[in-house]
Amino acid sequence: MFRGLAADRDELPGLLEHVQAHAAALLKAVGEREVVPPPPSPLPAPAALPAGGAGARAALEEFARRWEPRLSSSAGPRYLGFVTGGVTPAALVGDWLTGAWDQNSNSSLDGAGQELERETLGWLRELFGLSVEHHGTFVSGATMSNTVGLAVAREWLGERLGVSPAEDGTGPLGRVRVLSGSPHSSVAKALSMLGLGRRALVRVPLLPGREAVDPAALEAALREADGPCVVVANAGTVNTVDFDDLKAIAALRERYGFWLHVDAAFGAFAALSPEHAHLVAGLDLADSLCVDLHKWLNVPYDSAVQFTRRRDLQAAVFQNSAAYLGPLGDTPDTVHLTPENSHRLRALAAWFTLYAYGRDGHREIVERCVACARALGEAIEELPGLRLLAPVRLNVVCFTLAGDPTADRLAELAGRLSREVFVTPTVYDGVPALRAAFSNWRTTDADVRRIVTALRDAPR
Ligand SMILES: *Cc1c(COP(=O)(O)O)cnc(C)c1O
Repeated sequence: MFRGLAADRDELPGLLEHVQAHAAALLKAVGEREVVPPPPSPLPAPAALPAGGAGARAALEEFARRWEPRLSSSAGPRYLGFVTGGVTPAALVGDWLTGAWDQNSNSSLDGAGQELERETLGWLRELFGLSVEHHGTFVSGATMSNTVGLAVAREWLGERLGVSPAEDGTGPLGRVRVLSGSPHSSVAKALSMLGLGRRALVRVPLLPGREAVDPAALEAALREADGPCVVVANAGTVNTVDFDDLKAIAALRERYGFWLHVDAAFGAFAALSPEHAHLVAGLDLADSLCVDLHKWLNVPYDSAVQFTRRRDLQAAVFQNSAAYLGPLGDTPDTVHLTPENSHRLRALAAWFTLYAYGRDGHREIVERCVACARALGEAIEELPGLRLLAPVRLNVVCFTLAGDPTADRLAELAGRLSREVFVTPTVYDGVPALRAAFSNWRTTDADVRRIVTALRDAPR
């Protein structure tokens, strides 16, 4: 065995304690250090590949010296860019053990990992109010979850024409239309990967002053379409967290027969809060749906789930036949259900946090994030020079400058704030804006007060 490797093996308990102390210190400070440190200028050149290596302790020292100062505090309470969750203590424990156990949980030939995944998926199904007809799998993120859902949709379109796109390609499908009001950018990416093409996406008019689709306009688009359709409903848009009326859309499906995919990447968590659960009423009616876990469940990257009612079609798309893999059977192995073959025991972090805090704990996180977003929204309405662009429906505050809100001026403002609070730019209804998205379990009203102070004091 290579000398450095053997030395680390012999020293492993001490090494792990050393890393544990290091991680504990960084997490203790995560709420105080700069949220997004400014990049060094000029950027240092990449280091050369070491020849003999210096062992894991030296690697940690080098990482701490050269890279950690440049990493953002995205695990901390005032990183409000994109929609970024943190990591609950239990999720971190689960993630560490995922690496320690290093399972490839994709086959019943080595079944416990898959069983743990299925148990976790059952818990998640219950959390989001889904019926047992929905089968789930873990994937790396909502983009991959949307991709899997739309791949199943593609196979369903083929089934109606008596062909299998998984076997014969998309040619026989002709022109496919994917109708959606405010689709996330990942839907276009998924359509590109699936051979349906980004141009398959047809934007349906929205309700006035909203990001939710106008059901009457959707019906008109369905009536006009001369071929097969998929509808992507949005349960939680990224700018204003608006929700399509899922029940109304599902009612249209009775008449027009389309595949209903619901992108509920973070909006699904509204189901945990009795005050907001009505926003996702009808979620269970989806033919396929997407939920991110590295956002509001607060497990580490990269983790999401997809659910579908047609696991048979999912297996038709993703089956992976090889002599050494099991047959499909009634409960196909994970290797036959997702784009990946091998994958880590991704469910373990979710299992830990759900076991540790349960429905009540995760409900409290959701409700506190919503309360923080509301408080920030109310404060922004009072701050001179700023303007709220949309009502705070759930956990995102979309705001802009009261006068002359150009993208450049907003980028400057975001840059000035970024040591204290990180927000990301957007354009809402043609107006350049900033978004503050609350989805980290660490965030409290004390953070909101700090954010308000930073906004008040930032020159603009
Ligand atoms: C974040 C998000 C996605 C993409 O998620 P990734 O985890 O980055 O792949 C898709 N849809 C919506 C609504 C999202 O918020």
